Formats: sequence, C-alpha cells, structure tokens
Amino acid sequence: MNSTNLEDDDDELLFVDEDYQDDSYEEDEFIGYWDILIVDDDHEIHSVTKLALSDLTVFERRLKFHHCYSGKEAREFMANNADISVILLDVVMESDEAGLQVAKAIREELHRDEVRIILRTGQPGYAPEESVIKEYDINDYKTKTELTRSKLATAIIAAIRSYQQIKTINQSRRGLEKIITSAANILEHHSIMEFAEGVVTQISSLLGLNPEGVLCAKAGVNIDDSDPDSVYVLGAAGQYANYINRKLENVDNARIINQIAECLKHEGHIFTEIDTVLYLSSGESHAAVYIESGKLLSDVDRQLIEVFLSSISIGYENVNLFQQLRVAAYRDWLTKLPNRTEFINILDNYVKGDVEGDTIALVDIDHFSDVNDGLGQDTGNLLLLSVAKRLTAELSEHCILARTGADVFGIVGNADTVNETRILALFEKPFKAGDHSIPINATIGFSQKRPSARNGLSVMKQTFIALNKAKNSVAAKFEYYQPEMEEQTTWRLGMIRQLRADFAERKLQVWFQPQISLVTDKFIAMEALLRWPTEDGSYISPAVFVPLAEYSGLIVDIGDWVLEQACIQLTRLDDLGLNHMRVAVNVSMPQFRSPGFADGVVKTINKYKIDMNRIELEITESVVMDEPQMVIDTLTELKSYGIAIAIDDFGTGFSSLSYLQQLPLDRIKVDRAFVKDIYKQSGAILAETIINLGQKLNLHTIAEGIEEPAQEEILKKLGCEEAQGFMYCKPIPPHELEPFLLEQHNKG
Ligand code: C2E
Ligand code: MG
Ligand code: MG
Repeated sequence: MNSTNLEDDDDELLFVDEDYQDDSYEEDEFIGYWDILIVDDDHEIHSVTKLALSDLTVFERRLKFHHCYSGKEAREFMANNADISVILLDVVMESDEAGLQVAKAIREELHRDEVRIILRTGQPGYAPEESVIKEYDINDYKTKTELTRSKLATAIIAAIRSYQQIKTINQSRRGLEKIITSAANILEHHSIMEFAEGVVTQISSLLGLNPEGVLCAKAGVNIDDSDPDSVYVLGAAGQYANYINRKLENVDNARIINQIAECLKHEGHIFTEIDTVLYLSSGESHAAVYIESGKLLSDVDRQLIEVFLSSISIGYENVNLFQQLRVAAYRDWLTKLPNRTEFINILDNYVKGDVEGDTIALVDIDHFSDVNDGLGQDTGNLLLLSVAKRLTAELSEHCILARTGADVFGIVGNADTVNETRILALFEKPFKAGDHSIPINATIGFSQKRPSARNGLSVMKQTFIALNKAKNSVAAKFEYYQPEMEEQTTWRLGMIRQLRADFAERKLQVWFQPQISLVTDKFIAMEALLRWPTEDGSYISPAVFVPLAEYSGLIVDIGDWVLEQACIQLTRLDDLGLNHMRVAVNVSMPQFRSPGFADGVVKTINKYKIDMNRIELEITESVVMDEPQMVIDTLTELKSYGIAIAIDDFGTGFSSLSYLQQLPLDRIKVDRAFVKDIYKQSGAILAETIINLGQKLNLHTIAEGIEEPAQEEILKKLGCEEAQGFMYCKPIPPHELEPFLLEQHNKG
C-alpha cells in the first residue's frame, strides 16, 4: 500500500485505503498488527478512538488496540508488553500529570525508546511544555477535540512510520553489532552462532521485518559430534533460537526444512510469497538463510540483499575457517575427543575445582606401533577409534575423555570409576579394527588430586611420570604418581639435558679396551666404550648414562659418532702399522629402530675405506628380544656387507635359543658374571655351556671381565678363544691406546 500524504487532512484518504483493503485482503492475509495502547480514564474516549481507527491499515497491517484506564495501569502494562508501537496517552488522569509520569517512566525507567507517544488532553490550550516534549520524546500533542478520523489517522500513520524507522535502525544496529562482534570474537566458540544470528537479524531489518529465521548449513567443524551429512541450524533469531546447534530436521516446521534443503541443493535463492531463502556461499562454505518474509521481495529489496550477502559471505568463510582452526587446535582429528592442549585446559579447571573428579589417568596402548607397522596405519586408526568408542561408551557418563598422544588416552573422573580395575577390565576383550579383532593391553599412569599440582600442565606431568614408571617396569601395568618419582624424573631430565649439551659440545669421549687372542697371546681387537667426563675430572659410567641416552633417543646420534670415532681410530692404527686390528662397537635398540640405520653404518665404514669385517657390532640379548624379527632382518642386511656381529653379555637373559640360530652371528661374548664365578662349580658349568654352545653353532667365543690369570687358565681349558679384561688392559683413551698397542706389537 502506498503510504499517505500527511499534510492532507482529507478524509478521502482513509476511504481509499479501505477500498483497497477490501479488494485485496482477507482478514488472515494480514502479516500482523500494530499494537496501539489507548490510555485514558474516560471510557468514552476508548470507544470513539477505536471506532475512528477500526478500518485503518498502515503499511499493510491493521491496528490492534489495548486499553488502560489510569497512569498506574499504563505503566504496568508497558512493563509487560514489548510490542506496543504507539500510545495515545491522556495527560490528566488520576493526577494532573499522570500521563506525563507514564511518559517519563517509559523512557527513563523502562528504557523504551522505540514506542511513539501521542499526548492527548481534554483542555485545549493546556499544552505541555516544550522541554517535556523533547525530554520524553513525545511525537505529537492533540486535544481531544481533534478526534476526527482523519486527524487521528494521520497522527497514527506518522507515529507508526517513525516507530518503524527507529525500530529498523535499532534492529539494524543490533544485527551489525552481532556480525561485527562475531568477526571480532572470531576465535571464540560461539562466533558462528553469533554471526548467524546477526545475519538473520540484519536481513530481517533490511526487509523491515521482525527478526525471525534461521541460518543453516552442514555443521562441519562447528558442532561437536556432528554428523557430516546433516544440515544443522547454526544460528537463529526469534522463535527458532531453541534449535541452534541442532539438526535442521528437528525444526518443527516442514516448510523450513524443505525450503532450506531446496536452497542448498540448487545453490540459489528462493523467493516466494511466504518466505525468502537466501543462499550464502564462499569458498568451501555454503549456507542457507531462511527468513519468514511473508511477501515476495521486490527487485529493490533483492538487490539490497544481494549487496549485503556478498559483503558478508567472506565473513562467513572467515568465521568458518577460524572455527576450523579452533577445532584443529583443541580436538583430536581422528576420535574427535579433546586433544592434549584441550585436556590440559580441562585439567586447569580440574585443579580449580571446576571439573568433577579426583583422579587422572593416562592410558597407553602397549605396542601400538606394532599394529601400525604390521597392519598398516589405516588399521591402526581404526583400532584407536575402536578404543575411543569403548572408553566413551563405558566411561564418558562419569568422566571426561581425551586423546593426549598417538596411543594415549586421558581420563578425568572420580576414583570409583578411574581406577585400575575398571580401566584394565575394558581391555580384556579384543578390539575390532576393520576385519581384524585385535587383543591389546594397556599401561596406565594415575595421579590423585593433591595440592602440590599448581595447574593442568603439572597434573599432566605427574600423571605422565606415573605412566612412564609403569611402562619402564616389566611387571607393573599401572602406577600411581608419588612425589618421589618426580625427584628421579627431575634428575633424569637434568642429566639428559646435560648429556645433550655436552655431546653437542663434543665433550664425550670414546675409549678403547683391547682384546687378546688366548691362542696367540696377541692383541687382535678392541671394544669402543663411551666416556662422559665431568667437571671434576671423574667420569659418569656408561652404565648410568647410556640408558638415559637410549630413553631420550640421543643414542642414535651418539652411536653414529662412536662408530665414526672407532673407524678413525682404526685408520690411525693402520698408519702406525697396526693394520690387523678389529674394533667392536656397542649398538642399542633405538639405533635399530631409526630408519636407514644399516645404510648409515655401511656408509660410515666406506667413508674411511675400512674392510667391513674389521668392524664388529655388539648387541645385547635384550635388544634381540625386544623386536626379534626387525633386529634379525637388519643384522642380516649388515652381515651381507661383511660386517661382524657379536652377542654381548651372553647368558644373562636370553630366553629363546631359536632366535640365536636365526641371528647372523660371528661371536659370543661370555658375560663377566660367569668369569667372576668361574672358580665356583656353578659359574664354571655356565661358562662351559656357553662356550660349548658357541662352538656347536660355529661361533667364536670371547670372555669379558678377566682380572686374574687363574680365570684365564680355566677359560683356555674350556676352549675360549679370546679375552678382554683389566688383567690385559683397562679401557684407555686413544692417546694411551696407541703407545700401548705399539709396545705390545713390538714385544711380540
Ligand atoms: P659392555 O659392552 O659389556 O662393556 C664392557 C664393560 O665391562 C665396560 O664397562 C668395561 O669397562 C667393563 N670391563 C671390562 N673389563 C673388565 C674387568 O676386568 N672387570 C670389570 N669389573 N669390568 C670390566 P663400561 O665401559 O662401564 O661400559 C658399560 C656398558 O655401557 C657397556 O657394557 C655397554 O653396554 C655400554 N656402553 C659403553 N659404550 C657404549 C656405546 O658406545 N654404545 C652403547 N650402546 N653402549 C655402550
Ligand atoms: Mg659391549
Ligand atoms: Mg658386555
């Protein structure tokens, strides 16, 4: 409908409107009403006003009247009714200024700056002061004699128009505020919700509608535990606000569901006489905005909306991208559980007492890498998902779960749930991973709430210390954190830090202990042994620091360096004419595990142009037992180049002779313990058994730790071929080794 010319006092105007309405509208077709409040202590005025305005239609809406008969009543009514657009307000009621007090209350107490107020008074000439008009934002002032239909109508139309303008401006400001704050708070969890609500509000306001509608899209990363194929309500305004973060199909309105599906499917806007569905897309992000427009949008409106959509689509993409970043930062991509960072945040709240629980567990899957290596990463992932699923099903009701490492799950809860019995029981049945059903064990570190934990990170550390303790022990499947553990760990970490620094500064040394042939009495070889000097001139034993180097992985680099030093030493002995010597180098498990280990060894030996068979690698039995097949394969490869292999500390823990036969060995080293006890019956029997075994397998035998001639005597009788021990020579640094060997050589 065309709005009216306000200067025109002609009653015709209303009749024109009337005709128009009667032709085109049925009662129900009206989108709504303007709520008008009449406040007057004179009942007559109410009916006259109502009658005069009963047929009036303003901006396609009719009027709905509300009635109050005193200032007090009006104030109460206003406090409880938000939608009043215009008040026709009598000034003089229970008091001379009752009406003005209502106006004051509306503006100053209720802070309702949108509603328009038209003051009316019975006495002509009794006009309120100009200051009142300004202060209470009074639209108009009429005497009751001016109650002609056209005068009233004009006043109402003008008031409604300005009400609507003020409302639009406010709404638009709120919409923009939401969009802007959502952009500013882009890193916050609710930014997408706020953004979506802002968009619905803003579009509604551009169209002059109440904010009613939804913004929907595939949830993607925006909603936890979302189903990737479903469309979700990401934001809403008005009556749909309850559906936020829920699947679209839950919305109690089939039309909205269908229209949004249609819009997303055809990737385009839909304009109908009932509603408007706008398609929003940028990059990977697609969304549909449903607005109950109640009319077919005009071309002008469509253009306006188009401009608006193009300016916010980038914003939508940004909000989505940031949300993705947020999720990536705090969620585990595989299981969708909180990740380590988020777990530490949760632990921060746990320390503060904001998270229910008194116990933390870190559950580590034993030998997970075997599954990954043996069955492939996809199966490994399925296994992790399967574990996450079982933990969630069994524990999530009472606990918070997280995946804090590749094969480590974190749990926060109370001790009646978070305990070894309950958790280990969950690992009794195998886990399904694709076509496989894989039995796995878990090792658990626990920590109980204690005041010494300052924050989430320190709780995490404590639990980790307990987990490591359990993992490093053969028998224990779990450990509870005790402060003493921390002292050991602190010491270990300090040592590792120092070792790393000293190694980087080339402070480590390689010493050599010569090995003698019991047949020819000549030095034929030597073992390279690490030495770590301290400030005070003493040395930290390799028995102490090699395990730390292994634990930290430092042994890989250190081991490479030892081999290189051994090669250099051989070339220097060659230069001195001692070109018959071999060198034995100890090798640890982490070196076998490091990729390209065999190639690296071969490369280093080639670099110094040394015959492969002059280098012997010593491995202990425990190394073989840790991952037999891998070690056998690597040793077989090394052996194929001619490199010699010795088994060190033999007899101290080898449990399977079958592996011994599969290993490409050259030499067995009889452990010092048997040499020491060789005078005793039992020691001698063991030494004899080992030497016999070596001979049966066609291996050379060497005895370690010979300190006295009597020991040598017995070993010789048992048929042992070679020896190493303090009796011949202690481990010595290179500058002592060279004169020692030269002297021995010249003697012979
Ligand atoms: P191991 O390979 O069994 O080395 C022999 C150990 O016996 C050496 O101890 C040596 O000093 C000691 N020993 C030799 N003869 C006698 C003797 O007559 N009496 C006594 N009581 N001891 C004797 P060390 O040098 O303290 O090395 C300890 C262990 O540290 C080595 O045992 C080896 O397992 C490890 N290690 C040393 N250097 C390296 C290295 O470069 N890499 C790796 N992975 N481990 C190393
Ligand atoms: Mg050794
Ligand atoms: Mg040994």
